[in-house]
Amino acid sequence: MHADHEVVVLRLGHRPGRDNRMTTHVGLTARALGADRVIISGAASGSKETIEDITDRFGGPFDAELTEEPRAVLRAFPGTVVHLTMYGLPVQEVESEIKGEHGEGPVLIVVGAEKVPFDVYERADYNVGVTNQPHSEVAGLAVFLDRLFEGRELEREWADATHRVVPMATGKKVEPTEAAEGGATSEPTNQAELTDEE
Ligand code: SAM
Repeated sequence: MHADHEVVVLRLGHRPGRDNRMTTHVGLTARALGADRVIISGAASGSKETIEDITDRFGGPFDAELTEEPRAVLRAFPGTVVHLTMYGLPVQEVESEIKGEHGEGPVLIVVGAEKVPFDVYERADYNVGVTNQPHSEVAGLAVFLDRLFEGRELEREWADATHRVVPMATGKKVEPTEAAEGGATSEPTNQAELTDEE
């Protein structure tokens, strides 16, 4: 998040077709909850495009990248590597130490899809469980980011958005930002136009 050291999410094990929606949601969750970029390992160009499209409309900064070399990303990362896994140490026991590391440098958060190779567990500086129950990479990532940023991500500003959601008790409204040229309608917008990922 702006003014902090970089937080990067690495999505491992993307299986084209089967994981398209989850991989997209890993990226959208990373963006919405304060990470600076997502790196997706494998053939996930559709997910990358959707994440970029959301960033174009609702703001950034946020980058999405693809890699064929996740091990090289892990090897070369110049900071703390956190692997989210149900087998790891409870997040509530290690979060202050990791926040301390983030005060000093960047953090790479690794999430899997299928079985994660054991060398990732060995490379990680922290293997962290968000509970020690099996659930989802999206849920684990969301809770971990919120703990890392202590809720500050909920108040962040977005740059270069063309549209913003107007929060409402009931109803759905999206309006063009002042920066948007030509402007779209300020009429209430159907949610389906926001993102076909919802
Ligand atoms: N069966 C796979 C394995 O043994 O690695 C787990 C697949 S799980 C559906 C996909 C990803 O969700 C995991 O790689 C991990 O990143 C994340 N995940 C699932 N449960 C988690 C938990 N309790 N805490 C943290 N991350 C979790």
